[in-house]
Amino acid sequence: MLSDVTSLFEQVPVAYFSFSLILGLIIGSFLNVVIFRLPKMIEAEWDCECREFLADDLKDSAKNKEPQKVTLSKPASTCPKCGHKIKIWENIPVISWLLLRGKCSSCSNPISARYPIIETITGISTVVIAMHFGVTWQAAVMMVLSWCLIALTMIDFDKMILPDQITLPLVWIGLILGLNDVFVSLDQAVIGAIAGYMSLWSIYWLFKLVTGKEGMGYGDFKLFAVFGAWFGWQVLPMLILMASLVGAIVGISLMVFKSHEGSKPIPFGPYLAVAGWITALWGEGIWAWYMGIMV
Ligand SMILES: [Zn+2]
Repeated sequence: MLSDVTSLFEQVPVAYFSFSLILGLIIGSFLNVVIFRLPKMIEAEWDCECREFLADDLKDSAKNKEPQKVTLSKPASTCPKCGHKIKIWENIPVISWLLLRGKCSSCSNPISARYPIIETITGISTVVIAMHFGVTWQAAVMMVLSWCLIALTMIDFDKMILPDQITLPLVWIGLILGLNDVFVSLDQAVIGAIAGYMSLWSIYWLFKLVTGKEGMGYGDFKLFAVFGAWFGWQVLPMLILMASLVGAIVGISLMVFKSHEGSKPIPFGPYLAVAGWITALWGEGIWAWYMGIMV
């Protein structure tokens, strides 16, 4: 069955690319839910842990206010303004948003363009991977990594966190891939994971000891470890260079154009995610080009 599908995809690339696009759009729609709800679920968990910890002091006052349980599947998606339940036909990626002209069907409350944008980005990046890696295991796992990176990027933008629920499984997946030599050997993957985490961890503490400020969070170390585990320690220097460069450009332009306060932290995760994704696809080419202009 699987071999039938893969041979079809190999013979008819258009079928493969169309399948990837549709899959990406559907996953993008799911990512919108993850991006919105996962931070809420994490906050509810923290809340719960705090309550347990302070149980004796807060017996009466806080325990009565149990927060509403949120999971990825429940409650059903509704319009935040009128509570209208989103129907299946209103939930088709991108198309529904266009048909509804970006408004709720019942109260005309505007629906953020962010939803179709995330769906489109997910769809396009999935097709790009399909084209780059062809019908391979590498393509399949790279798609999963991209979807996770999109969720991480948006959650970091919104909430300044990179949830362990996403980063840690990605590290383990990277090591399993190394075990099977999917991208790099196991040695490179293991050293990559350790070097990724420890390098940013050291920079963080050095920076903190010298300036007393926190430039990054522990989530950033874990995300860097993900790329080390997946693509080996060799990619790490270029990746951090690219992330810092993009981060600096965006940070400076934000300060110049939007009078962003310099003291307000800008999350580093998104730059790391974008740089990691680019490195995974075109790292070798960029490296060759860079060495070419240096020599
Ligand atoms: Zn509504």
